[in-house]
Amino acid sequence: MENKILKERTALITGSTSGIGLGIAHSLANSGANIVLNGFGNPDEIETLRSTMADRYKVDVIYSDANMLNSDEIASMVSHAIDKFGAVDILVNNAGIQYVSAIEDFPNDKWQDIININLVSNFHTIKAALPAMKKQNWGRIINLVSAHGLVASPFKSAYTAAKHGVVGLTKTVALEIAEQQITCNAICPGYVRTPLVEGQIESQMKVHNMSREQVINDIFLAAQPNKRFVEVEELGQIAVFLCSPSANSINGISLPVEGGWTAR
Ligand code: NAD
Repeated sequence: MENKILKERTALITGSTSGIGLGIAHSLANSGANIVLNGFGNPDEIETLRSTMADRYKVDVIYSDANMLNSDEIASMVSHAIDKFGAVDILVNNAGIQYVSAIEDFPNDKWQDIININLVSNFHTIKAALPAMKKQNWGRIINLVSAHGLVASPFKSAYTAAKHGVVGLTKTVALEIAEQQITCNAICPGYVRTPLVEGQIESQMKVHNMSREQVINDIFLAAQPNKRFVEVEELGQIAVFLCSPSANSINGISLPVEGGWTAR
């Protein structure tokens, strides 16, 4: 018998049509939460994802195509979820993009998109979701950051700046809501083998004229002392833990989940 500790809760996960967000949506639904999916993709595939998740976990699953670049679309996604479910009890800010370039060649529009999707959208979702959390005196905000919220790598200036920004936002929100039964925390994974990382593997193979194995071992896993990718399921279980009563006093942390990368 599954432990449905999140029954009657609703979780909105931005960027949950793929990768880590989708994995976290599965884990929260498996714990009984209703789900608001968000992100881009083929409409038929997203509808299959939505209905399969609803059937498998016996929860309500809805989908919003809100673009995290657009503050009006973010506000209406959150208000639609609140109208339907009463509140967004669990907000997971996960949507993110990456672009790798030396700073002097970094395209201005790419810089701005990364800052807006990876950082600014978190401000808009939190601002929209907090009043209903405060009204019911319960909420969980989980920001999907990265090891790059704690340390830097060359050629990832926008990403590192945005992720460090989310760490600061996480601490500030945590302090503002500390007296309510609301927490705000960040999860900082190392490399996870999702479409976002697959794209980087492909481009590094071309840039360095290396094989896939060489890129994985000599570039990606070189940073990770445990020499393996983080699994999406591990991150899903951490999200469930942060929503559980055991985590009631965990607030404002940025939890490294990277096999020891930032311990160096
Ligand atoms: P992914 O590319 O598999 O998924 C990204 C999701 O965000 C997709 O659902 C996509 O449709 C959505 N998205 C992108 N732009 C959007 C926009 N403008 N509006 C709405 N949705 C949008 O990526 P992932 O690897 O699962 O990454 C998820 C998060 O985890 C990101 O914030 C990323 O920075 C972070 N992260 C990833 C890794 C990794 O190794 N994969 C490591 C650390 C942190």
